Amino acid sequence: MKKDIHPNVSKTTFRCNCGYEESLLSTKSGDEVSVEICSNCHPFFTGKQRFVDTAGRIDRFKKKYAKFQQGK
Ligand SMILES: [Zn+2]
Repeated sequence: MKKDIHPNVSKTTFRCNCGYEESLLSTKSGDEVSVEICSNCHPFFTGKQRFVDTAGRIDRFKKKYAKFQQGK
């Protein structure tokens, strides 16, 4: 390999919201990368429909509109 033209590659732990972890080589600096979705939990690979509620948005939505459903 030629000197000084290649980016530094280091081992990085990718951690998904579903709990899946994988060590990969990456040019990204830092030891750890968080991802929201991975090949382990993406609906395309699992074959199941699944809501990806990464920030509690679905819960917040339900709370917000629960009163409208009760007040019928
Ligand atoms: Zn995942």
